[in-house]
Amino acid sequence: MLKAFAIHLHSHLSRIRSKMTDSCIFCKIVSNETGAEIVHRDEQVTAFRDIHSVAPTHILIVPNRHIESVGVLASEDEQLMGHLFTVARRLAEKEGISKGGYRLITNTGANGGQTVFHLHLHLIGGQRMRYPMG
Ligand code: 5GP
Ligand code: ZN
Repeated sequence: MLKAFAIHLHSHLSRIRSKMTDSCIFCKIVSNETGAEIVHRDEQVTAFRDIHSVAPTHILIVPNRHIESVGVLASEDEQLMGHLFTVARRLAEKEGISKGGYRLITNTGANGGQTVFHLHLHLIGGQRMRYPMG
């Protein structure tokens, strides 16, 4: 009985997840359905250049699995989030912006300025960032 319910719940959740990913531009980039200038790809994350770059380097690093935002992160995602940052650090080195410094941003929800609802880390650098933020 409980097992049947668990199976039902699982298929229900998979359907919801696939519905979200069907219309998600970053899921399409991850699965190669939509083109992008990919700069890194591994089993867990994909990184590609932002279509509207705001600085000489503007890369987006996204988990391959659809996660809406930081607002829905679970403790199981901690390793993945750590990896996202490590990839950001490696890409910054590859881009030659490590020494000068760079900015990492993850906008969360409407007030955070999030426009694509698939969690992503902006890696921005190659020029002096403006401050203060907000
Ligand atoms: P957000 O505003 O959600 O933090 O950032 C979304 C970012 O995704 C924006 O900087 C926007 O320019 C970028 N973006 C939106 N659509 C595409 C796309 O189709 N391809 C690429 N490469 N970047 C995109
Ligand atoms: Zn997605």
